[in-house]
Amino acid sequence: MTDTPLAPAPIRAVKTPKVGIVSLGCPKALVDSERIITRLRAEGYQIAPDYAGADLVLVNTCGFLDSARDESLAAIGEAIEANGKVIVTGCLGAEPEVIQRAHPKVLAVTGPHQYEAVMDAVHTHLTPPHNPHLDLVPESGLRLTPRHYAYLKISEGCNNRCSFCIIPKLRGDLVSRPIHHVLAEAEKLVAAGVKELLVISQDTSAYGLDIRYKPETWRGAEYETRFLDLARGLGSLGVWTRMHYVYPYPHVDNIIPLMAEGLITPYLDIPFQHASAPVLKAMKRPGNQDKVLARIANWRRDVPDLAIRSTFIVGFPGETDEDFEILLDFIREAKIDRAGCFRYENVAHAESGKLENHVPAELKEERWHRFMEVQAEVSAARAAAQVGKTLDVIIDEADDQTPGGWIGRSKADAPEVDAVVYVASRNALKSGDIVSVRITGADDYDLYGDVA
Ligand code: SF4
Repeated sequence: MTDTPLAPAPIRAVKTPKVGIVSLGCPKALVDSERIITRLRAEGYQIAPDYAGADLVLVNTCGFLDSARDESLAAIGEAIEANGKVIVTGCLGAEPEVIQRAHPKVLAVTGPHQYEAVMDAVHTHLTPPHNPHLDLVPESGLRLTPRHYAYLKISEGCNNRCSFCIIPKLRGDLVSRPIHHVLAEAEKLVAAGVKELLVISQDTSAYGLDIRYKPETWRGAEYETRFLDLARGLGSLGVWTRMHYVYPYPHVDNIIPLMAEGLITPYLDIPFQHASAPVLKAMKRPGNQDKVLARIANWRRDVPDLAIRSTFIVGFPGETDEDFEILLDFIREAKIDRAGCFRYENVAHAESGKLENHVPAELKEERWHRFMEVQAEVSAARAAAQVGKTLDVIIDEADDQTPGGWIGRSKADAPEVDAVVYVASRNALKSGDIVSVRITGADDYDLYGDVA
């Protein structure tokens, strides 16, 4: 079950209906769960911390990889066994027959982002309280992340058609949120204590394309619904802002000056997936690696601290030894600082399953290990180069293993997926503090230092 940062429950004469939430999948699904609990609380429902205390359980599923589908189905089964009243939503909800076949006792199934349908299903199976205490809901909404960072979802869906991906089938084409709504949400989050915004979508650099970059007004100034104006607006809020899921389109160059000025965190999460032209073509991804390398070199010239995170797939159907070597060379040359690597897996209904020359499992495994070794070398070189510097570090939590120790992150690290900085401090710190840390040591990924 997911813990939620809720205010203490008010004393009530009547029993308040309680909903439990199990949130699976990626940060985008987490944001969906946050929206759902915000709506539930706005209507006066309480969020139960465990199955036993819940009158009904909502399972927000992921349907991307076969392993995620299995995990979702297992979570639904667990919730049915422990509680009995279960509503399913999220990506796997786009295939209700799969869920109902495995778990006929499920009360209702709704697809991704169907907030209204989820609320209708909850109302049907758990009568809403008569007297909702709207004032219990903080203006920034309710979140499942710690208080000091928040995911900011700017759009749903995707216009690309990568052959290994079924997200457009599950979530549809790109639908951008108007920029004044996104900026107003960010402003509320910052007012509520958020120190770090993580911008997410399926394709952040395509933001606004579907609504022709419609101009809107925020704080008396005009902003177009587009990536650059989003960065300008968020940059004016004075907190760390990380851009996730950015494609290396030429217009990404425009936000580099905002990073050089310190308005946007010098961090780009670009899911390259591969570097070899034939593989990228089979993946149906845009890509000209020469231009990408030249662009990255220019970015680093202007913003020397820039950290680049990416994800890659090894063992894609048809990937030859030569393709794989090209990928390794790219990691070294582009100095991809942080990388997630997946062994190719057939996703149900994805086009890539029908491609020829699937790579044997042992070879995929071998390539994965070689990839991780090369990436560790790149990461270790970056980490070693930080020793002796003083970096801003955002504190996430106390280090249970070390008295007086804290765990935080530099600007080069996003929460959950990247490295950490182990910080020694004579004074007590708290989550969300941003402190100057003198870096004294490093391993392949993590840094060690003292509060300066
Ligand atoms: S960009 Fe490609 S991988 Fe990402 S969501 Fe869109 S189709 Fe899927």
